[in-house]
Amino acid sequence: MELYEYNAFELCEMLENRKISSLELTTSLLDRIEMLDKKLNAYITVCPEKALEQARAADKRRMKGECLSRIAGIPIAVKDNISVKDVKMTCGSKMLENYISPYNATVVEKLESSNAVLVGKLNMDEFAMGSSTENSYFGATRNPYDTNRVAGGSSGGCAAAVCAGETILALGSDTGGSIRQPASFCGVVGLKPTYGSVSRYGLTAFASSFDQIGPVCRCVKDAAMLFDVIKGHDMHDSTSVKMQFSETFSRLESNIGGMKIGVPEAVFKDCTRSDVLDSFYDSLKILEKCGAKIISINMNNTEFALPAYYVISSAEASSNLARFDGVRYGYRAENADDPDLMYKYTRSKGFGDECKRRIMLGTFVLSAGYYDSYYKKAIKAADLIKSSIKEKFSETDVIAMPTSPETAFRFGDKHNDPLAMYKSDVFTVFANLTGMPAISVPSGFDKSGLPVGLQLMGDSFCEQKVFDTAFAFESVFGSPAKPKL
Ligand code: GLN
Repeated sequence: MELYEYNAFELCEMLENRKISSLELTTSLLDRIEMLDKKLNAYITVCPEKALEQARAADKRRMKGECLSRIAGIPIAVKDNISVKDVKMTCGSKMLENYISPYNATVVEKLESSNAVLVGKLNMDEFAMGSSTENSYFGATRNPYDTNRVAGGSSGGCAAAVCAGETILALGSDTGGSIRQPASFCGVVGLKPTYGSVSRYGLTAFASSFDQIGPVCRCVKDAAMLFDVIKGHDMHDSTSVKMQFSETFSRLESNIGGMKIGVPEAVFKDCTRSDVLDSFYDSLKILEKCGAKIISINMNNTEFALPAYYVISSAEASSNLARFDGVRYGYRAENADDPDLMYKYTRSKGFGDECKRRIMLGTFVLSAGYYDSYYKKAIKAADLIKSSIKEKFSETDVIAMPTSPETAFRFGDKHNDPLAMYKSDVFTVFANLTGMPAISVPSGFDKSGLPVGLQLMGDSFCEQKVFDTAFAFESVFGSPAKPKL
C-alpha cells in the first residue's frame, strides 16, 4: 500500500512511531498530484515548497520529542475560497484569478498551529455556487470513479482529491450541500458542522447565514479528528458560538444500541432513482443491525425547503458579491472611460453565468415590491421547517436520508438546466436551513458502480451522535473500494 492510500488516523500512528516521516508522506502526495492532477483537475494551486517546508518543520518538532497534535505532519488541502496568507485564492473565479490572500483564515491558523502540512488549494464552482464544479473558471474537476462524470460540487476538488489520494484530508465549505454532495459522488466522508461551531473568518462569503467550513476525509475517524482541530469560538467571527466543545475523536462510539433514527419517507418522492433508494434502505438495515431503532417521521413544509434555500442564499449572495467591483479586489476591466462603465464591464466579464444568475435573482427578491412576497416568505418557510425539524429531535436522535437523489452525472447533463442542477440539493439543504450538523458517509454503489452516500443529520451541536451513527455504520459496512487510477 502506498502512503497516500492510508487514513489520517493510521498515518498519525505511523508518524508517532517514527515508521515514516512527514517529509516522505508529503513527497508521496506531491508525486501523486503531479501524476494525476492533469487528469482530475482537483487543484487550482499546489504549494510544494510550502508543504515540504512545513513537513520538515513537523518532523523536526517530532524529533525533539515535542507533544504534537494528531494531525501534525499530515497533508491537507483546502477549498480555494479559504484564505491562506501569501497564497492565491481564486474562489474558482476569473474575478480573483490573481488575488493573493493577505491573511490566514482562522481554520488555517488552527491547521498551522497543529503543524499540519498544507499542500494546496482545491477546485470549486465559482464562489461555491453549483453542484458539479462545472462552474469553475479553471475547468471542471473529474470524478475519480469515472472521469466522464462530475465530482459533485461545489467542493468537487476536495472530494476528488481525497478519493484519489491527492491529499489525505481536506476542508470544504457547505452552504446548501457542497461538502456532502461531492463527498457522496466520490465515495468519501464529508461533514457540514453545526452553524457557528467553526469560524467563518477568512472564508469568502456566499450566503453568510448558511456557510460553514467542514472536513472531507476518507473515513469517519478522520472527519472527527479534523473537526476537533477546526471547531471553537473565534473572536473574529461574531456568529461563532462561545461554548465549551468536547473532543469527538476520542469519544467515538460504534455501539449505537437504543439510538433512534428517524426516516422522513415522504421527502423521498423527490428521488426517482430506485437504485439510490434501494441502497438507502439497505443502509437502514445495517443501522438496525448495529442496534439502532428506525422510526418513521413526518417533517412539515419540506416542499418549501429548496425554494426557500435558493431565495435566501441568492439574496445573501447578491449582497456579498457586491464587493467585487474592480476597485477593492482582483480583476478590473480595461477600456472603461468612467467608473460606472468600469463596474459594469468588470462584473460582466469577471463573473460567470451562474454567479450572474444568483446576483440577479437575489437582487430581485430583495427589491422593493418583491421583498415581502419572496424574501420574507422564504424566511418564514425556513422558520417553519426549522421548528418542525427541531421538534423531531425530541423523539429521534438522528435523521437519515440519502445525501443526494442521484449519483455522479455526466458533464453537461445539467449544466444548461439550472433548475435540474438545483434539485441536486433537495436532501442537503435541510441541514443548512436549520443550522444543524449532517454527515455523508459512503453507503455503496449504484447499478453503474458509482458511489452512493448516506446522510445523517443531528440536532444542533450534537455532532457526536452524528459521528457515532456514521462510525457504527462504517464499522459494519466498511469503506468502499477506491478506483484504480
Ligand atoms: N448546490 C448549492 C448551490 O449551488 C450548494 C452550494 C454550496 O453548498 N456552496 O447553492
